[in-house]
Amino acid sequence: VLRIRGLNKSFGTNHVLRGIDLDVMAGDRIAILGASGSGKSTFLRCLNFMETPSSGEITLDGRVLGRPRPDGSRIYPEASLTAVRQRIGMVFQQFNLFPHMTTIGNVTEGLRTVQRKDRATAEARAMRELARVGLAEKAQEYPSRLSGGQKQRVAIARALALDPDLMLFDEPTSALDPELVGEVLGVIRSLADEGRTMLLVTHEVGFAYHFANRVIFMADGVIQEEGPPDAVLKGPQNPRTQAFLARHK
Ligand code: ATP
Ligand code: MG
Repeated sequence: VLRIRGLNKSFGTNHVLRGIDLDVMAGDRIAILGASGSGKSTFLRCLNFMETPSSGEITLDGRVLGRPRPDGSRIYPEASLTAVRQRIGMVFQQFNLFPHMTTIGNVTEGLRTVQRKDRATAEARAMRELARVGLAEKAQEYPSRLSGGQKQRVAIARALALDPDLMLFDEPTSALDPELVGEVLGVIRSLADEGRTMLLVTHEVGFAYHFANRVIFMADGVIQEEGPPDAVLKGPQNPRTQAFLARHK
């Protein structure tokens, strides 16, 4: 689905991503672990061009999304950004719902503005996605009246409504009270069961173990270790992975 080669990203002199290579296959559920500041969010944000990579190439289904400019300095999205973001959905730690829109307004927004669906079609689609995350009865509520777990499920429904090829989750449960984590992880697990292709940044090692078919450990701007959950989480070879896991028991 997605092919990433030599991805680099610097903020000024801070060289955060230092050559990431990764192939994401259809149906992959990839958990990304790494210490705070290791560049996990930056990596996900580069994949849908919320950040512009400094260099490298990203290919989605054989189509190059970005490549070096002639001067070699940076890459840029060749396909339109809206097209890329339709195919690569993202769910954030802080939900990022539109506060002035109802639940259903949030979910229909992309359908209306990006996919140019008429209101009735968009609302029917939105209701299906809200029902899937168990929130059909909250369609007319504003985000301020929802719990954190409900907000995050709306955010997931909003991303799903565009039927993306790939879903990116950036610590979707770390802003939630512990008792609300389960309902969001349950929705993510159901997406896994449907065979959705997903990249998930998480500190929940236990969830990563059950959710993922591949686990990635990032440090110093590169992928230090990658493999099946059993190998990376139960028998890590890299001392950095071992130290990280010892801190996240
Ligand atoms: P966490 O686990 O805390 O979420 P992370 O692995 O997601 O950490 P990033 O948020 O990707 O880490 O940040 C990696 C580095 O990039 C940090 O040094 C951070 O200060 C820097 N950084 C991230 N975003 C920006 C930005 N927009 N401008 C400047 N520096 C940034
Ligand atoms: Mg982060």
